Amino acid sequence: MANILLVLNAGSSSLKFSVFQLPEQGELQAAVVGQVEGLGGTPHLKAKDGDGRLLADIRWDSGQVTNHAQALMAVDQLLRERFAGQTLIGVGHRVVHGGAEHSAPLRVTPEALDTLAAFIPLAPLHQPHNLAAIRAIWEIHPTLPQVACFDTAFHRTQQPVGEYYGLPYEYYQRGIRRYGFHGLSYEYIATTLPSVAPEIADGRVVVAHLGSGASLCAIHHRRCVGSSMGFTALDGLMMGTRPGNIDPGIVLYLLQQEGLTPAQIEDLLYKRSGLLGLSGISNDMRQLEASAAPRARLAIDHFVYRISRELGALTAVLGGLDALVFTAGIGENSVAIRRQICQHAAWLGIDLDLEANERGATRLTRTGSRVSAWVLPTNEELMIARHTLNLLEI
Ligand code: AMP
Repeated sequence: MANILLVLNAGSSSLKFSVFQLPEQGELQAAVVGQVEGLGGTPHLKAKDGDGRLLADIRWDSGQVTNHAQALMAVDQLLRERFAGQTLIGVGHRVVHGGAEHSAPLRVTPEALDTLAAFIPLAPLHQPHNLAAIRAIWEIHPTLPQVACFDTAFHRTQQPVGEYYGLPYEYYQRGIRRYGFHGLSYEYIATTLPSVAPEIADGRVVVAHLGSGASLCAIHHRRCVGSSMGFTALDGLMMGTRPGNIDPGIVLYLLQQEGLTPAQIEDLLYKRSGLLGLSGISNDMRQLEASAAPRARLAIDHFVYRISRELGALTAVLGGLDALVFTAGIGENSVAIRRQICQHAAWLGIDLDLEANERGATRLTRTGSRVSAWVLPTNEELMIARHTLNLLEI
């Protein structure tokens, strides 16, 4: 009888899910990819099969599906129908924070869940929902193995000296340190390098995960040595709705001079800044690229500028650069953003092949370019599924 694995990524008002089938031989295959959006509002479940064909499109009235537990009941029902006769052998979860302790995925027990709950203050917008999904699965399938895969884990190999902030040492001991995020995406890219780009697999590589959230990761010998993200996922590059690193004095100014409350500042920093705030138009790069408004151009130019600056910084951490890899929604799809970033990085030795970039080739640079540039699609769900399977087989 065939076996399946479920992968969950629970956000504040959404639940993304993927089902992987375990083949007799070879790589895990995604058989269903879907999401429930609008939890707490007007919920909507949409699911497609592995070839992109629509499997389900269900809308509920507001108030009918309000939380992750109810969303999971609906997903469970869908999977029972779709995979009748097959056995669900485990669930892998994206969990944003594993603290300083977890450098690898974890088979979750009730005790382990308590330790992960201790990281809620470090990621209050994500961690509670990630853990709620684990509890909700236990309600439906009390004995089903569950695995937590952390977005911070890949960064635990960062240079120790880079993990500090220049605050009194006791703050470091209390957990205020650079963690880094998007780790599952970076780990996936690192694991694909030997097969898709063997000439750079053991080199000094900066991977640019440019999506709604955006960060850069410095990788050497396929291990993380530095990240643009720090204590929270607010740090580093400018993103869709987050500003990236700002002078901490701005937060003091907003509190003391403008009288904003902590909740208002949180809303400003997580939801109203970044591409959206600067352009006043959208957090969606496609809309900004299509717009003729001067502030759309400004937002794009600042996005590129910040990436270029941070690329220089991480090149210094690596002691040089062999390759730049683009991934995630913007990195994989935006010809114009890749072109601008590579042109800014000409000083590093990136010699962009404009035609290769236009056609979305895997390798973007000309033969002989001192530093090569690449586009590699990420797959965080597959990374979680692989980890889950590995832990279940132990
Ligand atoms: P992600 O969070 O990885 O799904 O990425 C979302 C971001 O990718 C959004 O800003 C989208 O506008 C952007 N994106 C997706 N497709 C394209 C495209 N063809 N051109 C430019 N940006 C894109």
